[in-house]
Amino acid sequence: MLTASQLINNPALLKLDLYCRGARLNEDSTNVESAGGRKVLRTRAGLGSGLELILPKELWTNVPVVEEFTVNSPYDIGLVDPSGSSDAVRIRYHDVEVAIARLSPRPGWYGKKTSTGRSMTSIGTLQGTYLGIYPGTVCQFWTRAKKENCKFCSVGLNLGMDDANEKTLDDILEVVQTARAESKITYVDLNAGHAEDESYLDMLEPIVARIKRETGLLVGLQAPPHSDLSRYDRLRALGLNRVSFCFELFDRECFERVCPGKANTYGLDRYLRAIEYCAKLGSKGPISEPWVTNGEMIAGLEPPDATIAGIDWLVERGAVPTICVFRPLRGTDYENVPPPTVEELAPVFKHLFEACARKRLPIGLAPNVHVSLVMLPEEARFLSEDKSLRRAYAFWRTPRAAAARALLWAKARAVSA
Ligand code: SF4
Repeated sequence: MLTASQLINNPALLKLDLYCRGARLNEDSTNVESAGGRKVLRTRAGLGSGLELILPKELWTNVPVVEEFTVNSPYDIGLVDPSGSSDAVRIRYHDVEVAIARLSPRPGWYGKKTSTGRSMTSIGTLQGTYLGIYPGTVCQFWTRAKKENCKFCSVGLNLGMDDANEKTLDDILEVVQTARAESKITYVDLNAGHAEDESYLDMLEPIVARIKRETGLLVGLQAPPHSDLSRYDRLRALGLNRVSFCFELFDRECFERVCPGKANTYGLDRYLRAIEYCAKLGSKGPISEPWVTNGEMIAGLEPPDATIAGIDWLVERGAVPTICVFRPLRGTDYENVPPPTVEELAPVFKHLFEACARKRLPIGLAPNVHVSLVMLPEEARFLSEDKSLRRAYAFWRTPRAAAARALLWAKARAVSA
């Protein structure tokens, strides 16, 4: 069992344990909002549902507070000043204070509507400090005659609740522009589920083009692997900055059991082929647009060794792993499956940082991007005792190293041209 002093001294351990055990919230949602915090939203990203907080060392997080398993959590969270005049919250573990955190600020535009009368939060919401948008119709694994949704996913449950069913390009751009002006976002993440006719990239491409053209913000997308891989060259040429493929589980038996739609329609190998292909697009232009390929997995639904093997597979190919922690969301097929423990997951996240840092993958470089729904590789550095790797990571982020990277990049371009 973790001790209070371990949690006080290690914000990554705290972030991870809060994902695994959740917390009892000593406030109702109104108090959180009166103190400037964000409402607990059921977003369509499929994994999030909790309280958005900023932990010490600027680790943004989303703490489960509504699921059954949180009832017996050793953590409780409450406002430091119950009158709501401050955004500070106290996190206690077995009644011992382990951190003072802050509520993630609720943007003013959360109360606004688009020109067509839609509430802006039904178009997109901040997840940490970036804007997340799910522009299309619901993932069609949920609407097949025999449902084949991933067992942990809540996307099909949330429709018509906090998220709009149809979003026009104009609505989307209006929310992006507003979030850029008022929340100073630097990155927009577009998300799409399965479409029987493979139209997800047709739907996302014009949105990418318009956001790039009109705002110049960093833009990424997460969608199933398209059968025509040249589509990713086209997106890269448009200025897309990130592509993410959620294969979730590296263990094939677990993948087939947990994600029947993905297994029957695409198969794990199609995800892996797309990642391998996209990871090589970095040296193609436009040179001014950074490029990263992510492989996304969910930890806690396969043996930790399998997730570690998946991390190694990705890192060897130059892709950056994104690891979510399984959360048994209310109403999902897995709502009664116990969440993983920090003891199981800490070695996975420690490995995540060390593998990325050894390979010098571009982690922690995007400006002002804090992510609440996953622990990023660079945040997991607090779990590593390897001082030389931590020092190398810190150096890699300095302006001198940035100049060296730019030089290497230019050389690589010259060679590949
Ligand atoms: S592919 Fe799976 S995880 Fe993604 S939206 Fe569909 S059911 Fe959810």
